[in-house]
This record gives sequence, structure tokens and C-alpha cells, in this order.
Amino acid sequence: MKICKKCQKEFDDNLTFCPFCNAENADKKLTYFERKQARDKDTQIILDKASIQNCDEEVAKEGSVASLDVLHVQNYKKAKLFSLIRLSASLLFAIACLVAAWIASSKDINANLKLAVILVAFLAIAVCASILISDIFAFLSLRKMSAEDFSLRKIYYSRGPLFRSKDDIYEIITNSECDECKSKMHLELKDDTLFLVCNVNRSHIYKIEKDAYVAYLKDKLSKKDNWVIISRGEKWNF
Ligand SMILES: [Zn+2]
Ligand SMILES: [Zn+2]
Repeated sequence: MKICKKCQKEFDDNLTFCPFCNAENADKKLTYFERKQARDKDTQIILDKASIQNCDEEVAKEGSVASLDVLHVQNYKKAKLFSLIRLSASLLFAIACLVAAWIASSKDINANLKLAVILVAFLAIAVCASILISDIFAFLSLRKMSAEDFSLRKIYYSRGPLFRSKDDIYEIITNSECDECKSKMHLELKDDTLFLVCNVNRSHIYKIEKDAYVAYLKDKLSKKDNWVIISRGEKWNF
């Protein structure tokens, strides 16, 4: 562990900038480019830490399937249809913007107005492209789900892993507390293993193997009567 020269807090040896106060903690004076490189390296280290690494897997304790809950998300076919509609809508909008830019450039109008229209059109296309990429990813993930029962997929960053069972899609969540510090936990997925990770301290980590959660989910879904599936209803948009 390193100790920050400015705020005296402890942080990762491999980082150059303090994650608490952003102060530079290099051994020597850095040039502009060295500083930029150090920033990029720090960002990569922080990103790596935010996903499950092999070292996390090794320290993970055995988690209990009873800490898992399931939310009913949507009918599978509907989800796929909505996803396709969204995808087509963003594609059509991007094409419309392109056409608008092309018309503006070929028309004999005020030069400033022409520039403004083209600029706005290209901005809109850039936004559309990023939406389109996530829409395509969601659509392909949904298609893959059709081939596999109980195969967890992470489609949206802010959502838990999703799985399909028969005609419906469900989200796996957890409401359980960390055994060590009583903080809330969240779920992460690596390969087919599910991890319960403490929101406060990432070293408080528990794993649930695929065999265990598949058996649990199959059993629960087969006995719908004693199984409360919370419907998320309209809040969900595919
Ligand atoms: Zn600091
Ligand atoms: Zn904890």
C-alpha cells in the first residue's frame, strides 16, 4: 500500500494518482506525456478492479443460493420484438439525419445555416450510433438466450444477470447483506460463475457455481405456487 503525500490515505501501490484526492504520487517529476500515460494506466487498473479477476475468484468463499431472488422481466418474444423495434428506430433516425445533412449541403441556402444543420445532424448521428451499438448487443444477447435454458447473460450494466426459462425472461438479484460488514451486495458474473460482491469492500466476495444456481432456479420455477416472482412491468424497456 502507498500513502498519499497530500491526504495521507492508503491506496494501491500500482496507482500514480490518489483515488481519494487525485494528488500525484510519483517518485519523480513527471513530464506532460508521462503524466498522461500514468493517468491511462491508473484508469485501466481501476477498471480491472471493477470486474471479477482470477485473484478475486481464489479468495471468494462459498455463497448460498438462498441469497438469490428472481424478478420477472418480460415475455421473451415481446422482449425480442421491442429490442428489434428499438434497433430499427435508431437506424432509421440515423439515416434520416444523414439525408438531412446531405439535403442541407446540396441546397443553396445561407452558409451559416447550412453549417448549423450539418453539425446538428452529425451530432445526432453520433448519439444514434452509440445507442445502436448497445441495441445490437442487446438483440444478439437475446437471440443467444433462445438456445440455452438458465444461461445467465449480462446485457445492461445497471441490471443483474438475465436468464430465459420457457417463454419468459428473468433477472437475478440479491437483497442479502454482506456477512462481514452488513453492507448491501450486488451480483457479478464471470464465465458461468455468479459472484456476490459487497458494495463497500470488494474483498468480501462469495461465489455460486452454475450447477448450484441452475438446480435452485429449476426447482423454484417448477413450484410457482411458493415462489414469488416480482413483475417489473412497464419499468422494463428492452
Ligand atoms: Zn490523497
Ligand atoms: Zn462487506
